[in-house]
Amino acid sequence: MSSHPVVIAVAITGSVPRKADNPTLPTLPAEQIESTHAAFEAGASLVHIHVRNDDESPSSDPERFAAVQAGVQKHCPGMIVQFSTGGRGRDPAARGLALVHRPDMASLSTGSVNFPTIVYENHTRLVTDLAQRMKDNAIAPEIEIFDLSHIHAARRLIDAGLMSDRPHVQFVMGVQNAMPADEHLLDILLAEARSVMPNATWTAAGIGRYQDSVMDWALACGADAVRTGLEDNIRVGKNRLANGNAELVSIAADAVHRHGRRPATASEARALLGLRAA
Ligand code: MG
Repeated sequence: MSSHPVVIAVAITGSVPRKADNPTLPTLPAEQIESTHAAFEAGASLVHIHVRNDDESPSSDPERFAAVQAGVQKHCPGMIVQFSTGGRGRDPAARGLALVHRPDMASLSTGSVNFPTIVYENHTRLVTDLAQRMKDNAIAPEIEIFDLSHIHAARRLIDAGLMSDRPHVQFVMGVQNAMPADEHLLDILLAEARSVMPNATWTAAGIGRYQDSVMDWALACGADAVRTGLEDNIRVGKNRLANGNAELVSIAADAVHRHGRRPATASEARALLGLRAA
């Protein structure tokens, strides 16, 4: 069983929750930097970033991404910066525009899937285009797995020379109409990913009330990373709103310790995921 330190990834904002749902949700770049800094102090070593317009609607504005990136680099030394290229409510043609700012990582969904109210559409042409932009800018992809077929789509990108054979892979469970949060299903996905991409590192994300249980299952299987943050879940328990991203990171750190491991430092996280030093 794995005993190396665990990368705690914090997804600070996402594209769905609003301040009306949880007032601590950071939506402006200054708020996002402050929330990331608190999460970093609590043990997070990777930040997953979506940006918003002033009215909180999802944005693809490269300047907003760059502002958050610069603030995180200044206040959270070495923390891994990951831009989202996914998310609801964004023009597909604009989803890769911020990659010119060369974050350490970017998320890459390798296929389409049903979401609660929309089809989350990732045409093969778009996936290939985003992978090419990441390759051109030396950005490491985090492959978002919303369905088993997405594992094989990732393998095709490796075979096409569009990414290295050791991507970081995230299984996303508990999105309504997509994959359920189920421990046996995680075992199946992990076995398939290990067979198809034996050098990949991996993590899993549980959405909403499944955040803690998916984290526990992943840690029990020796995951390289765990994911938390207000993007996926705005609550602690059933009846209380989280006090911010840092509180969710503290809960993740407790889970990591319960499994006999410890949160990775930023430089350890970079080594674990095969990234350049900051
Ligand atoms: Mg996201």
